[in-house]
Amino acid sequence: LLKQKGATVWFTGLSACGKSTIAVALEQVLIQRGHAAYVLDGDNIRFGLNKNLGFSAEDRAENIRRIGEVAKLFADAGVICLCSFISPYRADRDAARATHQTNKAGALPFLECFVDTPLEVCEQRDPKGLYKKARAGELKGFTGIDDPYEAPQKPELVIKGGEVTVAQGVQQVLDALEAQGILKP
Ligand code: ADP
Repeated sequence: LLKQKGATVWFTGLSACGKSTIAVALEQVLIQRGHAAYVLDGDNIRFGLNKNLGFSAEDRAENIRRIGEVAKLFADAGVICLCSFISPYRADRDAARATHQTNKAGALPFLECFVDTPLEVCEQRDPKGLYKKARAGELKGFTGIDDPYEAPQKPELVIKGGEVTVAQGVQQVLDALEAQGILKP
């Protein structure tokens, strides 16, 4: 029916690195080209499915576990699911990958996309003033300031968010989706 393979693109990186901007722009391009794509991000997950979770290590793990399961269901249904979450812990991202690999109806493609933007650039952008609050000690456990970010060791894709335009970042993901046979070139 959909004439496409379902897949998950998992964007990870610091707050304000550009994950959601790229994911939403990519969603637009995919839909324009006739593909079913859908963005999962803090806005549609943290206020609904995961509204009972905070930012402790346990809650971050459970947040990512649930998102990984939802993404897998989208991918299994044939949708290109674009996940935009800081997801700072390697083990949590690896678990999301593992659940795609062990899907009952066959492994589903999982592309980890590291939006690698220097902390200084993210902090300068600070569109929601969160870094400022974290530096002032008003926000505890903020990734990159007083909570760790564990960069991916073998991501399928690295986007240098401080160096490329949004359009270039989108193109990088499109190329990767084509290379994996998820989109026809
Ligand atoms: P995240 O989802 O990673 O928290 P956002 O996508 O909200 O980050 O982006 C944070 C800010 O950076 C936004 O104001 C956005 O317009 C800007 N931005 C995102 N990507 C780029 C880019 N490649 N070049 C310049 N600015 C960008």
